[in-house]
Parts: sequence; C-alpha cells; structure tokens
Amino acid sequence: MPKARRKIERLKQLHAWMQSRYQTPYPTVLRFVRDMPDVSGYVEKKRNKLVITLVKSCPLYHLIDVLCHEYAHCVDYPHARVERPDHGPSWGLAMAQIYADLYEGDGWRESCEIKW
Ligand SMILES: [Zn+2]
Repeated sequence: MPKARRKIERLKQLHAWMQSRYQTPYPTVLRFVRDMPDVSGYVEKKRNKLVITLVKSCPLYHLIDVLCHEYAHCVDYPHARVERPDHGPSWGLAMAQIYADLYEGDGWRESCEIKW
C-alpha cells in the first residue's frame, strides 16, 4: 500500500495508522465538512462512537496537526462525566506520544504503508 496522494485519503490513512496503534475507549470515525467558522476540527461522542470532524478546506499540514490533537482527545476520552480540563496532563501525554511517534519515531513511514 503506497502513501496516499490526495489530502483526504492521506488523512484517512493517518487515522487508520492511529487506530492501529492507540487504544481509545470508543471506536473512532473520521468525517469531513467543507467549511466551518473559527475551528479546523473537533471531536464529539455520538452513540458509542467518537466522531472526529475535520474542515477539509484547511491545508494538509494543518489538518495533520489537528488530527493528532483530536485523536489525543479520543485516547484521553473520559469513560464517565468527570470534571477536568480539556487540555490537561493526560491529554498532553497522549498528544506528545502521537506527535513523537509520527515525527521522531517510525510512525510516518508506518503510516505511509497502511491500508485505509
Ligand atoms: Zn482540544
């Protein structure tokens, strides 16, 4: 499987790589919207899935960062309703792990070979 060439396919490929590598309390789904004011992406729980929405008009390099950020929210997603900051230490650790694996480890190469 070669590296995906198109923006949306590359993001789906990176998402598949994240799914293969990190546990989340609920399965994740990736979806795209054309445009949205003020945000580039977000996560919401719908039924028993964590839906990651990305704004596809943003540039790829930015959406890769947003996907790492939002996927870290999925890894760190609380099972129950507990008061805690959105971007606290446990989210930060998940984000740092994904980022380091992707850019310092073998994640980039691995993700280019994964089927999406
Ligand atoms: Zn966030």
